[in-house]
Amino acid sequence: MSFFDDLGKNIQSKSQAASAMVKEKADTLKINNAISAQKARQKDVMTEIGKAYYEAHKDDEQIDEAFKEFFDQIKSYEDEIANLNEQLAGLKKTTTCPGCGAEVDKGVAFCGKCGTKIEQ
Ligand SMILES: [Zn+2]
Repeated sequence: MSFFDDLGKNIQSKSQAASAMVKEKADTLKINNAISAQKARQKDVMTEIGKAYYEAHKDDEQIDEAFKEFFDQIKSYEDEIANLNEQLAGLKKTTTCPGCGAEVDKGVAFCGKCGTKIEQ
């Protein structure tokens, strides 16, 4: 075999190895992306299960010990959100209707949406 035949075969096999490596990397990326997408969907379902459980049991007299810490965390976040909403309402010169939750101007006597009396 001539020097040039060997050189040609050497280049061909190196180029095949390189393209196999590129394909392997592309496949790996594709599979990793698919795994990430499934994990994101799984996380969404887990969140929905958690929300459903919380909504079903938040007013229970006895909260299951295993969930009590989570319930306390969620309640503290809800309190903080309510507090922040009050601050926002203060800035916006509006208040929240106790009947329907609509944002109404401070100083109005009744909610324009549901008619509930607005306490001043
Ligand atoms: Zn209302």
